[in-house]
Amino acid sequence: MPDPLTIADDLRNTFRGRLAFDAVRRGLYATDASPFEVAPLGVAFPEDAEDLAVLVKYCHEHALPVVPRGAGTGVAGESLGPGIVVDLSAEFRGILRIDSDTATVEPGVVLAELNAALAKVGRRFAPDPASGASCTVGGMVATNASGGNAVRHGYTRDHVRGLGVVWDDGSRDTLRNPSPNPSPKGGGGPAQPNLPTPVPRETSASQLVGSSPPFPLREGGPGGLGGSGLRTASIAAATAALLRANRELVHLTRPLTPFNRCGYLLHDVLTDAGPDLPRLLCGSEGTLAFLTEVTVATVPLAGGTCLALLGFPTLEAAVNAAADLPPFEPTTADLLDRRLLSLSGRGTDAVPAAVGAALLVAFEADTAREATERAWGAVEALKERHKLVVLAEPACDPDGVARIRAVREAAVSGLYGIGRGPRPAAFVEDVGVPPAAVAEFLAGTQDVMKRYELSASFLVHALAGQVHTRPLIDLADPADRAKLWPVAEAVHALALGLGGTVSTQHGTGIARTPWVERQYGPLLPVFRELKRVFDPKNVLNPGKIIGPDPSRPAWPLRGEDRGQRTEDRGPEDRAPLLVWKDTTAEAEAGKCTGCGDCRPRGGAGRMCPAFTAAGLEEASPRAMANLVRGLADLGSDDARPVVSACVNCKMCRDECPSRVDVPRLMIEAKARRHAEHGLDRVSWVLARADRLAALASRLAPLSNAVLGNRPARWVIEKLIGLSRRRRLPALAHQTFLRAARGERRLPAAADAPKVAYFADTFANVFDPSVGAAAVAVLRHNGVTVVVPPRQVGSGAAPFAQGDLETARELAVRNVRALADYARDGYRIVCSEPTAAMTLSQDYLLLLDDADAAAVAAATTELTTYLGGLHAAGRLRTDFRPLDLALGHHVPCHLKALRGPVAGPGLLGLIPGITVKPIDVGCSGMAGPWGLAAANYDASLRAGRRMIEAFDRPGLLLGATECGSCRLQMQEGTGKRAFHPVQYLAHAYGLLPELGKRLRSPLGELVSD
Ligand SMILES: Cc1cc2nc3c(=O)[nH]c(=O)nc-3n(C[C@H](O)[C@H](O)[C@H](O)COP(=O)(O)OP(=O)(O)OC[C@H]3O[C@@H](n4cnc5c(N)ncnc54)[C@H](O)[C@@H]3O)c2cc1C
Ligand code: SF4
Ligand code: SF4
Repeated sequence: MPDPLTIADDLRNTFRGRLAFDAVRRGLYATDASPFEVAPLGVAFPEDAEDLAVLVKYCHEHALPVVPRGAGTGVAGESLGPGIVVDLSAEFRGILRIDSDTATVEPGVVLAELNAALAKVGRRFAPDPASGASCTVGGMVATNASGGNAVRHGYTRDHVRGLGVVWDDGSRDTLRNPSPNPSPKGGGGPAQPNLPTPVPRETSASQLVGSSPPFPLREGGPGGLGGSGLRTASIAAATAALLRANRELVHLTRPLTPFNRCGYLLHDVLTDAGPDLPRLLCGSEGTLAFLTEVTVATVPLAGGTCLALLGFPTLEAAVNAAADLPPFEPTTADLLDRRLLSLSGRGTDAVPAAVGAALLVAFEADTAREATERAWGAVEALKERHKLVVLAEPACDPDGVARIRAVREAAVSGLYGIGRGPRPAAFVEDVGVPPAAVAEFLAGTQDVMKRYELSASFLVHALAGQVHTRPLIDLADPADRAKLWPVAEAVHALALGLGGTVSTQHGTGIARTPWVERQYGPLLPVFRELKRVFDPKNVLNPGKIIGPDPSRPAWPLRGEDRGQRTEDRGPEDRAPLLVWKDTTAEAEAGKCTGCGDCRPRGGAGRMCPAFTAAGLEEASPRAMANLVRGLADLGSDDARPVVSACVNCKMCRDECPSRVDVPRLMIEAKARRHAEHGLDRVSWVLARADRLAALASRLAPLSNAVLGNRPARWVIEKLIGLSRRRRLPALAHQTFLRAARGERRLPAAADAPKVAYFADTFANVFDPSVGAAAVAVLRHNGVTVVVPPRQVGSGAAPFAQGDLETARELAVRNVRALADYARDGYRIVCSEPTAAMTLSQDYLLLLDDADAAAVAAATTELTTYLGGLHAAGRLRTDFRPLDLALGHHVPCHLKALRGPVAGPGLLGLIPGITVKPIDVGCSGMAGPWGLAAANYDASLRAGRRMIEAFDRPGLLLGATECGSCRLQMQEGTGKRAFHPVQYLAHAYGLLPELGKRLRSPLGELVSD
């Protein structure tokens, strides 16, 4: 195998994409969503199919393993390998064509993105893996992905119509199905009614493989060749011969399950017109070819969807009831066991505590009426025949559907979120048995768990006989690790004994390759021969399906492969720089399962603006967690792009199913880097944005004139990196705090609520009318308000840069200024959500003392506080009407406070105002981050969804609590945006000057 230097040198003039051989990138691609770890030699990012072909050809010539990778959400370790891992999720992202009933995309397009585009024309790509927000279409084809709706819509292979491929030798072609798909759905196709007759294991490979004459070649013939590649022709001919010779064996070795994902699926590949190569490649896990283009059939959006939640006293009762569902043609029937239910927050009105297992059944039809009829029919029938503990009526309205769906989501994410110690591990999670044998399999598996003193959760797709078992295992505990293999042996043996399969949905990969021979016996030599036909040098994703890589353990568990990278690691065991009372950075990072939920595309969730802007694995929260897991030196240059990508929005912390506190990890990492290297120029400026603004405000209006001058802005950009394109807020000479200093402190009325107002930089220096409005509105509502005079900027900016020294200094000053108020029963109310988050959460990571804890406990965000007054009936509603249509954006840091979002409701109290809530993600500003010239474009990209939502013609003005987000709303649309409290104050008649600002256009470079 050539070494990295030689490879880089050899490919210098032919390969246009990026190659990375550093320890950091190798670490980031050494894991996926499985429990395995294999460090690749390097990572490649080809620019297009031609570029990929150059790389594959080189690997072929040098016998260098080459492994395709999409989003890395595979749970079987399919995309892990020792050679060059090729990341196709970065560049291959084009939706090339949407026709009336097909769509053609590049393989890196994410399912949710494709479906968002298809929804515009009333269609969708039907397979619905639970990872659809982040998994790629290429990965779906390569793993033959499916979801809960497989019973109705089948697997990916049932929908693939054509593929662009790069073969092992670098030649390229386009393949199409030779004829309409032989079976309408089924991934593995429906199983035979009877158990197959076992074929003697001693049958020799040559007997099995046979040697039929090559398939006759003709235009558009074997494999439905769209191109004229000789390589394709010879592959098609040899495949046809192999399948013909082993037709009987293929038939006999099929499991008795409706679905099967283990090994190569051969039973329906040979058609009268030749082998259906696209169908064969579905599920081949990158071991037979690279996919460069995918054409899929699309289906209409469902006309109606209903869900029903059915509760049963026991798991067995639920399994029995599921058997009566098929006549009502449900799309899915998920069975949640007691453990999953307990994690869904049952005891609430959704699932009473007496329920021991629940069926969550979906009905999807062309019309709403049809779906409703089926759902009611099923519920009535089950009510009659089975003892139900609780019966939720079928929900067909969007709210009801969302409520039931939330039970499943809460259960699954609660399972991932289990804290330290034993956690659900995916290593026997994909077993399938004939649906009639589910009860027997569950009972047997529970016995296995008892034998190994483990508990497990079960999520069963009852109609398909798929049982997702996740034993709770502490992978850090050697005793628990030792149980993995014997438990897998026992559970898989149980499934195979019932005519089942070791994989129904998640694929073979590293996880199940050791059991392929056990499942298929004499068919394994046929698989090997097939692999030899496609990839005689075994360079394409070796070690999968036809046998494990003999040079490493069959199961290379996480952490065991690190030896080879220790030479790249830097000094460890440094004292932590943040307060880590409850855990350590390394343990926190270890909670990451690699699921890839933090790489969403196409509209789901709010995380992660850094990934959204860059579109690269290295900017994902997963990469950040991987970095800290001890994979590489945090101080190295190669670690810098990963560490600096995080903007501390905190969205991943709350949306990650494992609740990994990635922003905390990244602050620690940034601080460690800066302790070693110091701050770079841009970080230094961003960390001091508050102080620089306060300084410049003293020189206003001169400083405003300078900031509004184009040549001066050019010079400023060159000197300190502040973007010359960004419209900046005007600086106030009379800051809010300076004006408030002259105020007399009035004694609090006995029963009046007491507030100490914390302004932070935006309300203090840029728009003091926010502070004035906050104080006026609070006092108008009978609140006693003080403005603590010694308060300074919150320190959010230096904290986000990892400049802990500056952040800590500011924290100490603010805690001194505020602690006595907190102890005297004042709420510390912040108009800036970032300040509220910093005071209530981040100070506790900087200061381990009682005063900081008192301040944290007393801190509230302003609109949340006003919303509380309203809920208590204490908010005055003597508003005068304002005829305005507003778009209200929910800032990330308001979400991070985990309280209710009160702003839109408060604004809605003003007569005449209409409010359109915009809750689609980060604005892309991330405090002062978006001010930097280097971040300007990325910032607008990261905020694109919010900007598009606000840019609708009906919305004339914006509202949001966050000062930085207001800048971005204005920058992206040219429309003005204000704090909700400014509108409230104006409507109370307390801020008349706002009327003029509402109507005046924004300044070009500087605006009030
Ligand atoms: C929380 C969670 C839920 C999941 N739920 C489901 C589910 O409901 N149903 C289901 O089927 N799966 C599920 N999965 C598994 C996984 O998401 C799917 O297998 C998915 O299709 C993988 O897509 P990916 O882009 O992440 O591919 P990767 O994981 O990156 O790769 C998977 C395989 O595809 C190959 N590959 C990727 N791109 C190409 C290409 N362009 N050319 C050739 N080969 C390629 C890789 O080599 C690898 O063998 C789940 C995973 C997670 C973490
Ligand atoms: S950080 Fe969370 S969401 Fe991202 S891969 Fe890890 S566990 Fe999944
Ligand atoms: S805190 Fe925000 S920017 Fe940082 S990794 Fe999490 S989601 Fe991404």
